[in-house]
Amino acid sequence: MSDKYALIGNPVAHSFSPLIHAEFARQTGHDIEYTRLLAPLDGFAAAVEQFRAQGGKGLNVTLPFKLDAYRLATEKSARAEQAQAVNTLKFEAGTVFGDNTDGAGLVRDIEVNLGFPIVAMRVLLMGAGGAARGALPALLEKKPVTVVIANRTVAKARELARRFFHLGCSACGYDELANRQFDLIVNATSASIAGELPPLPPHLFAPRSLAYDMMYGKQPTPFLKFARQQGARTADGSGMLVEQAAESFFVWRGVRPDTAPVIARLRAGEFL
Ligand code: NDP
Repeated sequence: MSDKYALIGNPVAHSFSPLIHAEFARQTGHDIEYTRLLAPLDGFAAAVEQFRAQGGKGLNVTLPFKLDAYRLATEKSARAEQAQAVNTLKFEAGTVFGDNTDGAGLVRDIEVNLGFPIVAMRVLLMGAGGAARGALPALLEKKPVTVVIANRTVAKARELARRFFHLGCSACGYDELANRQFDLIVNATSASIAGELPPLPPHLFAPRSLAYDMMYGKQPTPFLKFARQQGARTADGSGMLVEQAAESFFVWRGVRPDTAPVIARLRAGEFL
């Protein structure tokens, strides 16, 4: 019988994760079944328990349950502790191991796939939700000169930045970005899902800067369109999606799949 894994969230119908993991399984010769698990908004723990009782080996966790997964895990990786959010659960005898692969996936896509070293860069991270929390420790580990977190609800950005203040992290509202420039600007907000653009001032992008939107899709997001108009290089989150999935696959199976062909297929629209 195949080892069972799933993506748990609400909603989950739109996700490419089952197709990506099916590709990884084919590539590595591992016998896994990976499905979507729609959990009621007030029923995360019960849905996890049921999946585990049915022999489930692990879960990917998406909106809005990453904090619930952090609370549910009985053992956590250092990066999950730093992010205080979990997107990967692994079930073992008597324990639920929680990890966060979002940050590693983002940084690998930026540095390895896009060839953009983060060291000594001025980084702007937009958003202070689950995705930003996962991204922040991984970005800081690459030793940028600064990471500024901008968020609509400024108090959330300040709370997040406070924990990483000693590593050169600070927070502000969008209205405080005028006359500032960044080399790497990561959109970790969900504004793109609603077709919206956070209120960014012009001249935010330094020469040769990279604008990265964690959102992915057929059309460029409002943020990526704005960045292009401002002369920045742009990338959407499809590479991060595959890289964080590969990192989860490694956590579960101990094998790292080759991500390049899977990213190429995703970008070619083969999974749409
Ligand atoms: P959350 O709901 O946890 O956080 C949403 C964030 O977006 C908050 O900071 C919120 O600000 C901000 N926001 C929402 N609407 C607007 C707006 N109109 N203008 C400015 N800010 C806004 O979501 P997640 O952090 O989990 O996800 C964020 C994005 O990252 C999603 O698009 C998701 O699909 C993507 N993602 C992609 C991944 C990938 O592999 N490519 C992996 C994980 C996430 P406030 O605090 O003020 O509400």
